[in-house]
Amino acid sequence: MVTILLEGVLFIALVAVVVALLAYGVFGFTPAGRWLRQTANRRRIERRSALTCPTHGYHREHDLVRLPGGERICPQCYAEVHDVTG
Ligand SMILES: [Zn+2]
Repeated sequence: MVTILLEGVLFIALVAVVVALLAYGVFGFTPAGRWLRQTANRRRIERRSALTCPTHGYHREHDLVRLPGGERICPQCYAEVHDVTG
């Protein structure tokens, strides 16, 4: 019984290792992997740019203020516009 369970666990581990190696090979050494990495880099930079206020700098996403129209604004700009103290 233990042998059957151990064999099943080892088979699953083998499949996981093979999938990980294939993914590493595809993402690391092929033009498609380079394209995916470059696209991920662009998205990361765009996301960071959207979170950066030109005046006050970078803010975390959950610190931003959502305006009634749906746009997001930096909390310090919102406080300055609405004259909030504190
Ligand atoms: Zn700001």
